[in-house]
Parts: sequence; C-alpha cells; structure tokens
Amino acid sequence: MSQSISSREEALQKALHEHWDVIIIGGGATGCGTALDSASRGLKTLLVEKGDFASGTSGRSTKLIHGGLRYLKNLEVGLVREVGKERAILQRNARHLVYRDPMFLPVYDGGELGRTSTAIALWVYEWLAGVDAAERRKMLSKEETLSHIPLLQKEGLQGSAKYFEYRTDDARLTLSLALSAQQQGATVLNYTAVENFTYDDSAQHITGIVLKDQIKGQVYTIKAKCIVNAAGPWVDHIHALDKTTKAETKLKGSRGIHIVLSSFDFPLKQAVYFDAIDGRMVFAIPREEKVYVGTTDVFYEGSLDNPVVPKKEMDYLIACVKAKFDLKSLSTEHIESAWSGVRPLVLEKGKAEGKISRKDELFIAKSGLLTIAGGKLTGYRKMAERATDKICKVLGKTSSACKTEKLPLSGGEFLSDEVFEKFVSTKTIELMTLLNVMSYEAELLVRRYGKQVDALIALIPQSAYYAQKYQLAKPIAIQVLYAVEKEMALNAKDVYIRRTSDFYFRIEQLKKSYKPMIAMMADCLSFDSTWIKEQEEEFETKVSELKGR
Ligand code: FAD
Repeated sequence: MSQSISSREEALQKALHEHWDVIIIGGGATGCGTALDSASRGLKTLLVEKGDFASGTSGRSTKLIHGGLRYLKNLEVGLVREVGKERAILQRNARHLVYRDPMFLPVYDGGELGRTSTAIALWVYEWLAGVDAAERRKMLSKEETLSHIPLLQKEGLQGSAKYFEYRTDDARLTLSLALSAQQQGATVLNYTAVENFTYDDSAQHITGIVLKDQIKGQVYTIKAKCIVNAAGPWVDHIHALDKTTKAETKLKGSRGIHIVLSSFDFPLKQAVYFDAIDGRMVFAIPREEKVYVGTTDVFYEGSLDNPVVPKKEMDYLIACVKAKFDLKSLSTEHIESAWSGVRPLVLEKGKAEGKISRKDELFIAKSGLLTIAGGKLTGYRKMAERATDKICKVLGKTSSACKTEKLPLSGGEFLSDEVFEKFVSTKTIELMTLLNVMSYEAELLVRRYGKQVDALIALIPQSAYYAQKYQLAKPIAIQVLYAVEKEMALNAKDVYIRRTSDFYFRIEQLKKSYKPMIAMMADCLSFDSTWIKEQEEEFETKVSELKGR
C-alpha cells in the first residue's frame, strides 16, 4: 500500500474512534480556516470534504485578496475596513502565497468616475482599509498610463489610478489552511461526503454524521459534540439533511466565470481593473505566460459540482476586453482555458446579483447544527474566528481566545518580507541545479511551496526515478510526487487543477503530458488501469468543455 493511502487509512480510523469536539463539513477556505482556528484553540477537530480541498468555490475565484474597493460602491464601510485589515494579516502569515501587485484603474471621459472622484474614492478606501503609506495610490497621466499599458484604448483616456491589490493562488491557500489545521492536531479528510446526521434519543439534537468514503465506498457513523456546516454553495443541501428543521433557502448562488488567454494574443504586463460594456467592472490579470479575465455575476441554480462555462459569458468577457484594448482580431477562439465558480451569497430578497452583500452570517438550528455562510476568501480568518467563538460557547469553553492572527500558514513561516526574499534567492539557485531548470521555473516553485520547498527537494531523488520511467519533465514529476505524498492528492485533477494550476496556465504542455502524469500517479497510489482510463477520459472531457456550452 502506498504511504499516502496508508496515512489516509490511519486518519479514517482515527476519525471513527475519536469522540470529536467539532466536525466541520466542507474543505473550502471557510471550513479549513475554521478547522485551523478550532484545532489551534485545542479543540478535537475533524474536517470532512466530499471532493478535494478547494474543489468548490475556493478554487474558482479571481485569486485576489481584496482590500475591498468594490464594496465601497455599495457603501459597505464595515466590510472594507475588515477585509483591509485581514489582507495585511494574511500577507504576513502566508508571504509565499499572498503578494502585493500594482493594479491599474483607467479613467475615461464620460466614465462613472472622473480623475478627481477616482482619487477621492481611493483615498477613502485606503483610509478605511488601513493601507500602508508605501502602498498608497498614485494618479497617472494619459502618457504614463500608456507607457505601462500600451494596448489600452486611447480615445477618451484621461489617465489612471495605480493602487495595490494582493494576489494569491486560491486553491493552494485553501490547501495550506488544511495542512496547517493538520499541523495543529486536526484530522482532515478529503473525498469523504456527509450523507446524513445522527440524533439523540429525543431525535431533536444532532450527535454525529453519516460519512461516505468516496474512494472505497464505505459508510461510517462519527460522533461529535458540535457540527459545523461550512459547505459554501452547498450550505442549503446540508441544511436539508437536518430532519428537525424546515427546508429553507438561506443562499443565493451567483456564477462567475474567468477566461484564460495567451499573453501572445493579449500582451498585457500589468493587472487592470476596467469598466465592462454594461457598467460592471472586470479584471484582466497577467499570470505566468497567460492573462486571465473575469468575472461575470449571474444568478445560478444549476449543478454546483461542475458549473458550466457558458459560451454567452465567454463572448461577453471577450467583448469587454475588445472594448477597452486595441485587440481587433481577438475572439473566443483564442480562449485557452476557463473556470466557473458559484458565489455563496446570503439571500437578500429583491436585490440584483452585484448588489447582494458579500458579508457572512452564522445560523444555529434547533438541532444544534451551526452554519457559516457567505463572505469572501479574503475574510475567511474572521469568519473562522466568529464560528469558533460560537463552537466554544456551545461546548462551554468560553475562555479560549483566537490565535490565528499570529499563526503562519504551512509554508509561510518567515519573519519578514526580506527574510522570505532571501530564502527565494537561495533556494532558486539550489533548485536550478537540482532540477536543471531556468531561474524563472525554479523561482516559481520556491514561491509556490514556500518553506515546504525543503520537503520537496528531499523527494527529488525518488521523483527522478519516475521522471525517467514515465518520460516526464523533472519539475512535473516532483510536483506530482509531492502532491501525492504530502498534499493528499488522490485524483489527477487534484494535481493539474489545484496543486499546480497547469490546467489553467499551462494547458498546452499539459495536453502533451497528462497520460504519463496519470500513469505515474497510478503507480504512486497503486491504482489500476481502470482508474487510469477514467482519469484520462475526465481530462479529455474537461478539455472539450473549454469550448463553452
Ligand atoms: P467552498 O469553497 O465552496 O467550500 C465548500 C466545500 O464544501 C466544497 O469544497 C464542497 O465540496 C464541500 N461540501 C459540500 N457538500 C459536502 C458534503 N455533503 N460533505 C462534505 N463536504 C461537502 N473572494 C475573494 O476574497 N477574492 C476574490 O478574488 C474572489 N473572487 C471570486 C470570484 C468568483 C467567480 C467567485 C464565484 C467567488 C469569488 N470570491 C472571491 C468569493 C470566494 O471565492 C468565496 O466566498 C469562498 O471561496 C467561499 O468559500 P467556502 O469555503 O465558504 O465555500
């Protein structure tokens, strides 16, 4: 049995035999953040996720740790203040995954905001969000703007505001929360789905969950003093399993898609936040050799497991880009990859998609089921703190204080930005030699894994064997092995979508390497040829879906 499968087996056995303080349902940022908070306060914590960590909305976002500029438009002052503070905490705790990057906001004649009003809005935002002096906005002239973004439509351009957004890798950030929770003593299990609840003799209070192992098909009953529903867009589905409460809709799903273009077709070097064709705002963000553009915001009631990327919304994003950038021949044919996610918005009757607040809510049912819903990736830590305070109250442990403000995430154990940058330089040189790759490639890996890059390096001799056996490039083989051995990857898409994001940002290379990559994974996990065939077919279906529906 492979080492990763045997550790999963051990975790499952522990899950069955422990009487947990808390079971958290959902391995997105909210659930993993809550598991980290409660484990670090000493609670016996189990987290269960029906797919992979971040396979829901937390791996399908715009990948920004917002200061909350867009919430200012809806006058959500408290939210802007909170996310601004959270952004700074998160950057300190995960320097390898959260980094600041300039964003340009072009100003046009007849636009919603002129130069002066844009400057005032940004000033208010920076004041509310507590933005550092070094990161304050700068207003740029038309010429300065075009020197940074030459493709921008020139007619009517007055200039732009340059401010700072923080970028992240949403799926790896969520995974890092799960791994950090594990380091704090939590048991975390992916591919385990909650199918039902158990109740006490009165049949009124929940005492545990009925859990199905999605890999082996076995069903277990697990007991806990408190159960938390952190299932994002699935919150209502979990609620509906609770037979003591009337089925009630608490959420409204809103779908957002992103498209990925090659930087050859869209040569953009700086991130831009610009007016869309219908008065909304859209981001265009360079990453690796690509540029991703998003997002849309449309009420959604379809499949949550695999929300489609509609052709109509792809056309819309291409039209938005063409309206603002000098790219006459750009079309949906140029789209290389795409993703679609569903925002779990707390229902506010009668409000349009973009107007519903992104705030979070806690609900407690008669049965004791605690639900945490809404919010943003950026605000996960505060949501987790509120949820854990409530869990402590339910358990009668009121003295326990939140510790996550000063708790570095797995891989992010650096005292300062300077220490981190020095680490990046040293390890980049080491990896260039060990993997025989260019500095760009080596640096990308160091930034991706942070402090954990030493554990990655330790696996290089073993991965060299697989690289040769399956004719895989060394950086691919090492990442596949690391994902399986250290990051609980159990399916090929866990690797190519969430551990490496190659499905989005290196799709052409992936189309050439997916078969040997899947074969290597099967070898590491002792899976058979049926599994290999299923995984190959799944990849091919995903590629065909990229044309939009
Ligand atoms: P999810 O990540 O969906 O997690 C819920 C999990 O519960 C899922 O993984 C699911 O598989 C699991 N689950 C469901 N049912 C069960 C069950 N029966 N048993 C076990 N597990 C179960 N926020 C930002 O801060 N910055 C951004 O740039 C940003 N951009 C966004 C762009 C788009 C298009 C969208 C849709 C959202 C964006 N957001 C952004 C919002 C942010 O992504 C979400 O608020 C956040 O990820 C929600 O996390 P969650 O953990 O609540 O939900």
